[in-house]
Amino acid sequence: MLILVPDALLSGNLPLPALTLAEGFFLVSPWKPVLLLIPFVPWAMIVSRVLDKHAARFFLAREAWNVGHLCVGLLAFIVAISIPVKEEWAFWLGLVLMILILVGDIVVFAMVTNKDERVPEAHQLTLDFSRWTEARAAKAAAKKAGTVQLVIKSPDKSLVPAPDGATPEFEVRVAAEQMMCKTLDARASEVVLAPTGKDNTYTISMLVDGVRQPGAAMPASEALKILNFWKAAGKLDVADQRKKQQADIGVERDDSRKKIRMTTIGTQAGPRLVMLIDPEAQVKRKPDHLGLLEPQMKELQTLVTDGQGVVVLAGAPDSGRTTTMYTVVKMHDAYTKNVQTVELEPQDSLEGVRQNKWDAQAEGPEFSTLVRSIIRRDPDVVAVAEVPDAATAKELAKAESDRTRVYASLRADNALQALQMWVKLVGDADQASKCLHGVVAQKVLRKLCTNCRVAYQPGAEMLKKMGLPGDKVKQLFKKGGQVLIKNKPEVCPVCGGGGYIGQEGVFEVFSIGEGERAMVKSGDWNALRGEFRKKTLPTIQQSALRKAVDGVTSLEEVLRITADPAKAGDSKPASEPKTSGAGA
Ligand SMILES: [Zn+2]
Repeated sequence: MLILVPDALLSGNLPLPALTLAEGFFLVSPWKPVLLLIPFVPWAMIVSRVLDKHAARFFLAREAWNVGHLCVGLLAFIVAISIPVKEEWAFWLGLVLMILILVGDIVVFAMVTNKDERVPEAHQLTLDFSRWTEARAAKAAAKKAGTVQLVIKSPDKSLVPAPDGATPEFEVRVAAEQMMCKTLDARASEVVLAPTGKDNTYTISMLVDGVRQPGAAMPASEALKILNFWKAAGKLDVADQRKKQQADIGVERDDSRKKIRMTTIGTQAGPRLVMLIDPEAQVKRKPDHLGLLEPQMKELQTLVTDGQGVVVLAGAPDSGRTTTMYTVVKMHDAYTKNVQTVELEPQDSLEGVRQNKWDAQAEGPEFSTLVRSIIRRDPDVVAVAEVPDAATAKELAKAESDRTRVYASLRADNALQALQMWVKLVGDADQASKCLHGVVAQKVLRKLCTNCRVAYQPGAEMLKKMGLPGDKVKQLFKKGGQVLIKNKPEVCPVCGGGGYIGQEGVFEVFSIGEGERAMVKSGDWNALRGEFRKKTLPTIQQSALRKAVDGVTSLEEVLRITADPAKAGDSKPASEPKTSGAGA
């Protein structure tokens, strides 16, 4: 190869011999092998520090992935060195191909694992590098603080400093962190620190997959210290124990980062603290992840396309109603249409959508007045997160059906009940029915952990009782909670032993046409029930059973949510402002 250099010089017909010399030198440059190795450094770092950890964390096929990465790496190198052309450009082409293969390896990993149901949506891999660098900075800060487990950030992103180890403040910090760590370990969507109302005690309860888990009682003095610690972290007025105050703080542990929306409010027995974990993530769902069965999804799409009149959205508190409302609102194009919501507490900000917040404590118009003023401006879509009174329902029923789509959210257990409630609220069956175009009712059920669920053969009697065909359903699943690790039963690492992980909605979706409107108007609910049945669209119970047959959930869970509506969600008095998560 070195001969090339004098050759090039001797040839004499090159205008810039110096450049040729440099080129010739480059061909034999010892830097080339190094250059070939450089792309492997970031690739190997990403594979070992991000991808492998990701695989381990979510119990993916870690070894298989690592073998795959190694093969791809080897392939990339072979491609780079085996281009059979001796020209200069061949080297660069090889290098580019090699980088493309390495990048492809990472992209394929992200695409495949993001589809895996073991990876929660919030933890899917993205190319948002700012998140990575921030996580590193936070980790360094936590290390500096030394003795604490969490990095806590105030609303202004400033770090809440860890107190000196020997002080009483440090003990409070540790207690507050314990409360948060338990909440995060349990994958709770909400944690509440509230007075029990007796013996001057407080209790910490969590909402896990929509089920309230009560905690032990603790003295009020201790609880208030923890409560005030969090208030201070949120830069709230610690002295004011009555007024409702709200703040978003950040909590980071290991490589997970959560936004915590805390609300404090005074009650007769003392102040109460509600913390929502990742409130925005809780209500973010793509339409096909809501839990709708295929014919229901089609019916919902038809309803959205129709875009006229009132569609009643129904569910118990914490039944995922907010999630469904947000998802349905997002199915409308907020860029070409005027889309608005009226909410007490927006849980997520919706791009392009005007979200009107109504504050019960602020001076201003009544809820119904606000709704009326919005409807007067002829928006294309108005979604009301909670119809609080008859006056609001009347305003909504008066909207021009052919110009505005109204989503009215009500607390009801099924489609029929929701429609009855709608008619009652509007107070005039004619007006209430005239504008109706559809109804969507829902509940949420917990999904079985696929890592530890247990298959069994259901008894014929059980199947008969549930109305399932005995000749078709050969296998169902129940919750496990344990897995065999080296032949020893151990707590399932995926669900932490609970047997369930995550939630999904079960629905009733019906569009309402002329015939149904007449039945609503005349109050012939039996006829309407029959009409709905004719559509062969599943009811909530049928949807839930379908999911049990598919192994998504257990019969026990189906019974839990369909038997007693009061137990299915976290029921709270209707007068209380809704501060808890949607649960799905
Ligand atoms: Zn499990």
